Amino acid sequence: MTPLSFQIHTFGCKVNTYDSGLIQARLNDTGFMSATAEPQVHILNTCAVTRTATLDAVKMARRLKIKNPFSLVVVTGCAAQVDTEEFPGVDLVVANSHKAELSNLIRQYYNGKLRERIHKSNIFRKEDLEGGGGYEPGHTRAFLKIQDGCDSFCTFCVIPFARGKSRSLTRQDLVRRVNELVSSGVKEVVFTGVHIGDYVDGEGRLEDLLSAILSDTAVQRIRLSSLEPIEVSERLLQLYLDPRMCRHFHMSIQSTETRVLHAMKRQYDAAEVENSLLRIAAQVPESFVGMDVIAGFPGESDEEFRQGVERLEQLPWTRLHVFPYSSRPGTYAARLPQLEPSVIKRRAEILRDLSARRLEQSAAAQVGTLKRALALRGGGLLSRDYWSIESAEPVAPNEEVTLKVTSMHAGRLRGEAIYGAAT
Ligand code: SF4
Repeated sequence: MTPLSFQIHTFGCKVNTYDSGLIQARLNDTGFMSATAEPQVHILNTCAVTRTATLDAVKMARRLKIKNPFSLVVVTGCAAQVDTEEFPGVDLVVANSHKAELSNLIRQYYNGKLRERIHKSNIFRKEDLEGGGGYEPGHTRAFLKIQDGCDSFCTFCVIPFARGKSRSLTRQDLVRRVNELVSSGVKEVVFTGVHIGDYVDGEGRLEDLLSAILSDTAVQRIRLSSLEPIEVSERLLQLYLDPRMCRHFHMSIQSTETRVLHAMKRQYDAAEVENSLLRIAAQVPESFVGMDVIAGFPGESDEEFRQGVERLEQLPWTRLHVFPYSSRPGTYAARLPQLEPSVIKRRAEILRDLSARRLEQSAAAQVGTLKRALALRGGGLLSRDYWSIESAEPVAPNEEVTLKVTSMHAGRLRGEAIYGAAT
């Protein structure tokens, strides 16, 4: 039988990218053939973090079906789990609860053995978590999912309903997987998940996993995806004495105001935000600190916003990722009185301006410093402390060199390689 050709369209976060890598590997292993054009099967691995994210997938599914009515359009991922009814026109809806069965379901469909169009069950009953992914052909860095799901239920977030309760891969599995990645030439592994601060393996927590990776693997660069302020423990900061831990913190803070944080049902307050940033600056100096903040959360007063900006101006960080609040149906916050769109837009602009100024200052301070930088297959180099650097000389992809930063323009650095020098 001629192998069925397929193409995966990935929406959303690094966790979805990881999941798409697993789907790709499983389909290839079960006799399907990857295609980049005109495939028989289109798989949309969707995101539902905002209403817009779901609608983007709805539009693509409709477009693909119009373009080739004989192709099979399959929707999976978070929108398939929480916005199932939004996809009346697609052939198969396979929610996250059934994602691991995707290849079987497609084969049954072609064998005429499949009656149901929608395959979905209670995501909170999902216990398993599949390992083995993380390497994407053409990518330099490996994004390795260590954990999935979330138990926090922040009032603005739909993710727990899309991905279920928090569950983690074992340290043993992850050490083995990292060693496989290292032996295939990977130099940097980014540990990702929905809420990596929730990582647990028996008595072990995130710090124990990282200690095992540092002692039992030869990976050169370890980077973490987002952390919450209360997850920046003393033990974690101690691990950064090892130069293999990349001095880059992606902080998921969302706000700096205690009443707003409580309305979001975040597990920390303004003092804990401040404390975590000051400890990072003191104990892991020269770190790149990126922070997720929501602009215009329902009920955030002018005064709270003003105080928040003032507090941010006082604190040590490098760049803000600003998310204008968008109401996500199915969340508690969507039922609260919403701020005017113009107010949300204005607050997002103010935060983005603040971030641009801070990034420019931080980038200027990098001139003259030495950086260990990894040449990315997509071009450019990435330093351990998360600066994008252009090198005056060509550097072979996946090679790590020492660069002296010679100039900065619009937050981007330029440097010249100093071979043999270690930072
Ligand atoms: S911690 Fe909150 S924002 Fe993050 S995934 Fe969990 S519920 Fe969503």
